[in-house]
Amino acid sequence: MAERVVIVTGGSSGIGEAIALEMARRGWRVVVNYSKSTAQAEGVAKACVAAGGEAIAVRANVAEDADCRALVQAALDQWGRLDALVNNAGTTKFVLHADLDGLSAEDFQRIYAINVIGPFQMCRAAAPALRKTRGAVVNVSSLASRVATGSSIAYAASKAALNTLSMSLARTFAPEVRVNVLAPGFVDTPWMTAGYGEERYARVRETYAQIAPLKDVTQPQHQAEAVAWLIEGAAQVTGQILYVDGGMHVASPRKV
Ligand code: NAP
Repeated sequence: MAERVVIVTGGSSGIGEAIALEMARRGWRVVVNYSKSTAQAEGVAKACVAAGGEAIAVRANVAEDADCRALVQAALDQWGRLDALVNNAGTTKFVLHADLDGLSAEDFQRIYAINVIGPFQMCRAAAPALRKTRGAVVNVSSLASRVATGSSIAYAASKAALNTLSMSLARTFAPEVRVNVLAPGFVDTPWMTAGYGEERYARVRETYAQIAPLKDVTQPQHQAEAVAWLIEGAAQVTGQILYVDGGMHVASPRKV
């Protein structure tokens, strides 16, 4: 167990940071990936070591195939194996869904490059190593993929594409590698505060908590525990979407 290795893309912040720490607490060796935030990623790697694991921070832009291959190679160079891949890195543009002119083709292309093509490239680069260890992949999607809400139309569509991509890969990678999807609802992370701004963030958060059947937003730790289960447990589960959203995906349609 102490030998197992996981790559967490976008591990320097929010949900990815919580996943990296949770896996370290469980004795995993963690590759904390980031694209820009070097100091933050190195801080998370240090915290992983303090939590009982081993960790390295590795810069790679998941939109670049060469970076994806180098990221997988960094894990193999360091520890000689790979047991799990969490495609958590993501991006968006906050644009009201009614504001059609607020989204350009370039916005779609940038968002798809990171949210859809990135996980594909990471899965392709990691597949040979994951097949050897009978490993697991978790792709971090969003409630937005199901209810077509969230920060923008381009974002919701990209996460729906990620769900479909995950189903294809679950079939393609079986029987050696399981591929599942985590679909968070509203999670308290820098993504939300930066995207909405403090005032609107508080309003959106409150509305979500009122509508969600479980009457609260979620925390990064809720997401991390679900990811850990999909990786370490869930032995006969593949091609599945797990909503960790306070029940929001079954909220009354009249209220959404
Ligand atoms: P966050 O706190 O903003 O963290 C985003 C992470 O992604 C950072 O570590 C960032 O690192 C990394 N990243 C961004 N672009 C990258 C790239 N091209 N290559 C590699 N890393 C990249 O966001 P979060 O809220 O934790 O979101 C994490 C995931 O959860 C995303 O996929 C998001 O769509 C999904 N999600 C979030 C929520 C929510 O309510 N927060 C809800 C549903 C789904 P750098 O700063 O170094 O770029």
